[in-house]
Amino acid sequence: MTAESNRPCIILPEEQAPEGMQHCERCELFKQRTRIIWGEGNPQASLMMILDNPGAREDREGNPFLCGTRETLQLGMREAGMDIHSVYVTYLLKRRPVRAYDKPATRAACLPHLQSQLVQKQPLVLFGFGNVVAEGLFPQKENATVKELRGSWHEFGGIPIGFTYHPLAVRRRPNLLKFFVEDLKALREKWEERAAASCPESNIQHRGPTPRVGE
Ligand code: SF4
Repeated sequence: MTAESNRPCIILPEEQAPEGMQHCERCELFKQRTRIIWGEGNPQASLMMILDNPGAREDREGNPFLCGTRETLQLGMREAGMDIHSVYVTYLLKRRPVRAYDKPATRAACLPHLQSQLVQKQPLVLFGFGNVVAEGLFPQKENATVKELRGSWHEFGGIPIGFTYHPLAVRRRPNLLKFFVEDLKALREKWEERAAASCPESNIQHRGPTPRVGE
């Protein structure tokens, strides 16, 4: 562990869902009474990270709260030398399931939201965490698992995408942390390479506003 990894975790600012999407009822998850979390972090970032679904952002009293997923993700990013304020994090499903649900139907219903984010934000690189994201983005692919997909670059919507373990898997099995950090370092290199190719003057650390909340 580096000294950097001991820095406190932060609650990233949340991006509100666009007009007309805040009350989406396209799938059965709206009945589970969880709210939509469209994404968080820097909304103008050229790197988009994709998790399976949002974790809790507030505790029962409504105070800002960091779930284990966010803590482990930020630990991995710090270890990989990535600026947490320079990325955007979104979800395959924009609501947090609290009960069993029809997974294929729900993923298919929510995927257009992610596709609209890609059209609007035009990220240079995507990065998925865990088997649920891999299966959700590549439903036709046999063996769409992190084990199969990590270590090389794939394509989704014409954008390069890499994969690594879900932060909660890393939390449960600390021996995965070194692979998690390795994958994030490879992501950082890819991101820097793409940013340099798209705009030689670009500095990915300073693209767009990076409001700091809860630090
Ligand atoms: S999970 Fe996605 S598709 Fe389902 S209600 Fe929420 S935003 Fe709509």
